[in-house]
Amino acid sequence: MVDLKNWLNQQREGGGLRSLRPVIRRGKGRLVLAEDPDRELIDFSSNDYLALAEHPALIAAAHEALSRFGAGSGAARLMSGDLALHHDLEEAVARLKGKEGALTFGSGYMANTGIIPALVARHDLIFSDRLNHASIHDGCRLSGARLVRFRHNDLNHLEELLKEKRGAGTPLIVVESIYSMDGDRCPLRELVELKERFGCLLMVDEAHATGVFGANGGGIIEEDGVGSGVDLAMGTFGKALGSYGAYVAGSREMIEYLLNRARSFIFSTALPPSVAAASLAAVQLIQQEPAFRQELHEKIAYFKTMLRNGGYSADLGPSQIIPFLVGKSGATLDKAGLLKKQGMFVTAVRPPTVPEGTARLRFSITRHHSTADIAQAAKALLEIMD
Ligand SMILES: *Cc1c(COP(=O)(O)O)cnc(C)c1O
Repeated sequence: MVDLKNWLNQQREGGGLRSLRPVIRRGKGRLVLAEDPDRELIDFSSNDYLALAEHPALIAAAHEALSRFGAGSGAARLMSGDLALHHDLEEAVARLKGKEGALTFGSGYMANTGIIPALVARHDLIFSDRLNHASIHDGCRLSGARLVRFRHNDLNHLEELLKEKRGAGTPLIVVESIYSMDGDRCPLRELVELKERFGCLLMVDEAHATGVFGANGGGIIEEDGVGSGVDLAMGTFGKALGSYGAYVAGSREMIEYLLNRARSFIFSTALPPSVAAASLAAVQLIQQEPAFRQELHEKIAYFKTMLRNGGYSADLGPSQIIPFLVGKSGATLDKAGLLKKQGMFVTAVRPPTVPEGTARLRFSITRHHSTADIAQAAKALLEIMD
């Protein structure tokens, strides 16, 4: 057992201690913290990229499901918690991802820690990008398979490792399409080429891409046209889709297997009806309203142009997630504090979420932000980042 007091003190001194900050009011991309109830902050920390969490279609769908089916689903899917609504949602996701079927999970964390151990075990190999999300990493660890981590987005390194280590059996390659803390994009077409050449299974986590990329919001998988080359297209409803829960899409066989083997699916209560209904409304909405996506991308481009025009020369990446590398945890917290004084809520992302020495401010642009909000953020960043 760790020495709690000692551990907490050490974290406090190093700027690594995390704490909760309750929000007492929120809406339209703004929030008010309990610690500072007289001030409204612009939220640059949200993953609700398309502003769907407050969209009337999601709220109405949730209300209706709540009155028809109640607050909870009452049991696991394989017991009596399996609503037709869950199947409607899974069919919609399968269509969005261009796969035969899909399966929903309680959350993205549960999906990754359920799917990976269902597919690989002690004598198998996993090739995982070094910057993969903690839920992927934990899924890999839980599986007991041999974990080989390749340098971030470095397919030469992956190929080298595949040549060197790939034995019998089918290894699993797992990546994200848009990386959650760096906002950069994986070379998906080349990955598909590699996985085919080496006979591997490919799993792609589209947590930050679904809804934001692709003509129908189907993510980088759709944008790159590689649906058939991706064996497992995983993602969450909790980010651009404005709801909660997660999914994986794949072949009919894969889905039948996972619903028999993924323990986080089997041994957990089905998603509440209101949540499943909101997610379904969101999946429909992102296909019906490409203008939402376009509006978001215009805002992202505006933010990056403001920064470049102001002389900021570091790479700003291809997505709605824009990291500003600071280095030390304490200095990052200080900068987040300065931004808060100017009315902006930004998370200081620190180890262990990111590697040691790479603490950063992580900005996310959402459809809520006005041109004035974005200009204000760019101006403040230019001041604190030199
Ligand atoms: C957020 C996230 C998850 C976890 O999804 P939740 O639904 O929030 O549990 C998984 N993978 C990636 C890449 C994420 O960013």
